[in-house]
Amino acid sequence: MTTAMLLAKDGAQVAIIESFPLLAPTVRGFRRKGVLFDTGLHYVGGLGDGHPLDVYFKHLGISNHIRKKAYNPCGFDRFLFEKKALSYDIPCGFDKLTSTFTKWFPNEGKSIERYFTAIQQTLDASPFLNFSMDFDLGSAIHSDTTTLEDFLAGITENEELKTLLCYQNLLYGVPPTEALLITHALVAGSYYMSAHTIEGGGNALVKAYEKRLKELNVECFCGNRVESILINDAKEVEGVTLNTGKNLSTRSCIWTAHPHGLIKATPDSAFRPAFKKRLAILEDTTSALMLFGICEEPIESLNGRNIFLWPGGSFDDNLNGRSNQNESIIYLSSTYDKKSKKTAITAITPQPYGPYAQWKDSKRGNRPPEYVEHKKNVLETFKQEIFRRAPELQGSIEFIDGATPLTLKDYCATPTGSLYGLKHSVNQFNPAPITKVSGLTIAGQGIVAPGILGAIVSAYLTCGILIGHDHLHKELRQHA
Ligand SMILES: Cc1cc2nc3c(=O)[nH]c(=O)nc-3n(C[C@H](O)[C@H](O)[C@H](O)COP(=O)(O)OP(=O)(O)OC[C@H]3O[C@@H](n4cnc5c(N)ncnc54)[C@H](O)[C@@H]3O)c2cc1C
Repeated sequence: MTTAMLLAKDGAQVAIIESFPLLAPTVRGFRRKGVLFDTGLHYVGGLGDGHPLDVYFKHLGISNHIRKKAYNPCGFDRFLFEKKALSYDIPCGFDKLTSTFTKWFPNEGKSIERYFTAIQQTLDASPFLNFSMDFDLGSAIHSDTTTLEDFLAGITENEELKTLLCYQNLLYGVPPTEALLITHALVAGSYYMSAHTIEGGGNALVKAYEKRLKELNVECFCGNRVESILINDAKEVEGVTLNTGKNLSTRSCIWTAHPHGLIKATPDSAFRPAFKKRLAILEDTTSALMLFGICEEPIESLNGRNIFLWPGGSFDDNLNGRSNQNESIIYLSSTYDKKSKKTAITAITPQPYGPYAQWKDSKRGNRPPEYVEHKKNVLETFKQEIFRRAPELQGSIEFIDGATPLTLKDYCATPTGSLYGLKHSVNQFNPAPITKVSGLTIAGQGIVAPGILGAIVSAYLTCGILIGHDHLHKELRQHA
């Protein structure tokens, strides 16, 4: 949607092809028993006044159509070490973070300062997050391959501190052993700046986008899947074929779905076998189990903050599907729904896709009885696990529905129901925005970074290639 807006703002005639019946199925959420639930947007970083996402939304003309809602700046995330019954409320702002962490770990002042300085320096050096920097295409390529794990090992031996400095790897789905320090800095750093949601959640954000797309005359073909991209012998895009058989002519196509889909959608001759093999073996981030619950009254501990229940263990095991449910981290988040005057609770825990692959060809609403039974059992165990580990919630939440990796696979249109699409890890080169086919580019969270901000940054990168980085950057600076 962001790429469409940028090109339409530049005067192009643009169409979005979305296979789902509505735009943005991952983010728009759903209403059940009259209550609105968030799915692919719980909170975003960098939406404070003048922060990068705020600047992007202003430039796109989205800001006027949404109301930002700040998370608690004194503790937007509560991280709970369950075994030690220790709880830490993570504040926003680098000075506050440094002083708060130093109060918690008085002997680790130097390590804490080194960590937050490194994060801040990485943010400051990125022209996509710090618009006063001159744009340089090279800055989109991460040449520093230091992993988060190696960086943390070099600054401290305190395991509890290390955990607190890296738990945000759950927001991009890559454990510290595989995550680049740079990726971590860009994602975690944006939340360190500011943490917000949007009044009305992901649904309100999608509605704001829809309004702007309409104003910019972008045509939306929802419920239409791109079956193939038409590419001529000179390796130029000529159009796309939809699942209805309809052909749309175009000289330029931006693929924003999962990169695996490109192999199937392009003729055999479009890419070299090595490139197709590279796409085919790209690894995804983990999938998850999700539970959706209703509270009649807001839950104080979840008001303006998320809770991470950490049983101990390793992020590697958690994010690579090796933890049992009682050893898995649980993320809890709430949103107040103005219309129903009730609070929607979402609980998420990592879950590998593997055991669900046997049902991959089944369709939503018509799954085999074995899957239905399995889903019922795993969600019941997950529910019991939440109440065991957060007994204060028992009696206040009625869990009414849930999602498994199979649900996520269908709604997010990813091969393995991954939460954040492709892994951004030290072991993997994700595709570049430009392909060998003239007129075919790539954007979306798979390219630069995950999450809403990552997908938006990637849209600016790809559109910058098409319509000029300097011109986009100059416009962004006017809003910064
Ligand atoms: C449970 C969950 C919670 C999340 N929470 C947060 C959060 O709190 N904060 C945050 O910043 N991010 C969060 N994310 C991540 C965020 O939602 C994604 O980063 C973002 O939606 C990615 O946007 P995208 O445009 O790259 O991809 P998508 O939103 O996946 O868009 C790609 C679209 O392409 C469509 N498509 C696929 N194939 C075809 C085809 N052949 N033809 C036509 N259309 C096709 C798909 O239906 C899909 O709508 C969360 C994700 C999940 C799943």
